[in-house]
Amino acid sequence: MKKVVKFGGSSLASAEQFKKVADIIHADGERRYVVPSAPGKRFSDDTKVTDMLYDCYHLAEEGKEFKKALAEIAVRYDEIIEGLGLSLSLKDEFKTIEKNFKEKAGENYAASRGEYLNGIIMAAYLGYEFVDAAQVIRFGEKGDFDAEVTNRILSERLAGIERAVIPGFYGAYEDGRVKTFSRGGSDITGSIVARAVKADVYENWTDVSGFLIADPRIIADPEGIDTITYRELRELSYMGASVLHEDAIFPVRREGIPINIRNTNRPGDRGTWIVESTCQKSRYTITGIAGKRGFCSVNIEKAMMNSEIGFGRKVLQAFEDYGISFEHVPSGIDTMTVFVHQDEFIDKEQKVVSAIHRLADPDSVDIEADLALIAVVGRGMKSTRGTAGRIFSALAHANVNVKMIDQGSSELNIIIGVANEDFEAAIEAIYTIFVISQL
Ligand code: ASP
Repeated sequence: MKKVVKFGGSSLASAEQFKKVADIIHADGERRYVVPSAPGKRFSDDTKVTDMLYDCYHLAEEGKEFKKALAEIAVRYDEIIEGLGLSLSLKDEFKTIEKNFKEKAGENYAASRGEYLNGIIMAAYLGYEFVDAAQVIRFGEKGDFDAEVTNRILSERLAGIERAVIPGFYGAYEDGRVKTFSRGGSDITGSIVARAVKADVYENWTDVSGFLIADPRIIADPEGIDTITYRELRELSYMGASVLHEDAIFPVRREGIPINIRNTNRPGDRGTWIVESTCQKSRYTITGIAGKRGFCSVNIEKAMMNSEIGFGRKVLQAFEDYGISFEHVPSGIDTMTVFVHQDEFIDKEQKVVSAIHRLADPDSVDIEADLALIAVVGRGMKSTRGTAGRIFSALAHANVNVKMIDQGSSELNIIIGVANEDFEAAIEAIYTIFVISQL
């Protein structure tokens, strides 16, 4: 058995946290490949090392004095090294970084040093081999991650190494220039490593005990999710539930490797299992609820719309022409509605509306702003009757007016549109009907 373990920034923010991480790794000999993030926040208004690096590099780039800012970053690492009682020194590494900052090595290089240095410390502390991600994670010329080349290089490299630390978040172009993933990207590295070593499980250690059924900022102390499928997770993350970077799913999914989200501060908790498919029923009809505010709907009406082949395409063309992506397109007999992000749409709305008129010749176009979308997701909905009915009646009882309801053909999700101001009340009502009243 082989396990890949990724630790997030808060799990590695201090020497004390590093010790917890080492205990976790030593408790299970199968935890052979370790992917660290950069040191995160030690307390709520602390600054992540990644953010310190970006700021420091920007000073360097503008030709301003940056040594003091760099020294503050060095202190973060020195405190960890000292707290762990290691004899390691990062002095030479910092000299190199200073030189490269002066030479304007780029923001990607700068940000990647957070994980790189933490990886060096982690490898020294565990006695594992350090493998620089720049040598094994490859980006193509256009800056896209090159999954196949990476998988070849990385699997060959790790085949000969029993235990290794591979820093998260970055890789490099063929010519060696460093490139990072988007923020939170160490999750992706963990997944890539899991694929390359054909791990039995990818453990992603963070500061929560997995996914919760609903956002704890809206529902006090919501229940956790034991098991969730990749598809359910995709629906929920898309709607704003964020524990894991969205792109972390693809590498392991194709190999059928499950992800286990765990809590470094509560290692005894089972966490959430993310799997391809399961016969395990979720505890409730729904697996989770997530949502986002800030949408607007563009309602297009045309008599006999259904008999006009190509009408929908022409409408969507208008959005495409102005680079607007749509979120949902529910349609009626003579109506079609396009949901878009309000902040993306607002400056271009009149152009898009006139393009719709020009391209599709509708009877009317009407815009409604300040809407929220809520996704109710669950593999259990397929085999349960009356789910949509229960949602409607719960919302009616809570005095929430439903603007739109859209059930995906997979019967995995129901998307509901409500006014922004009804967002929280709607989530509370749905959580109550499916979870609290079933307890
Ligand atoms: N350190 C990077 C960030 O703060 C990547 C990560 O933590 O996953 O975004």
